[in-house]
Amino acid sequence: MDYLKIHCHRCKGKFELYNHSMQNEDKPPRCPHCQAQMTQKQWDDLVNAYLTFHDVNKNFIGSHEDRGTALFQAELKVHYVPRENIYMEE
Ligand SMILES: [Zn+2]
Repeated sequence: MDYLKIHCHRCKGKFELYNHSMQNEDKPPRCPHCQAQMTQKQWDDLVNAYLTFHDVNKNFIGSHEDRGTALFQAELKVHYVPRENIYMEE
């Protein structure tokens, strides 16, 4: 089972998106706290990336269960750092 945790930097709130709501034909989601909404392009990109990542993890399990390969699961984490706060060595 996997889902996405979305961080809204407008209101600092978080919300989850589950597999059943990750269909391209759905409207882009809104932050349930402040009502900020993704653009259609952002939503389409997110759904496509999610489905690809979901399949990779599903295939790890299938390979493990069918052929006894080592089991891996990949988890993507994101931490936003404003561009001006990234230290660049001269
Ligand atoms: Zn929000």
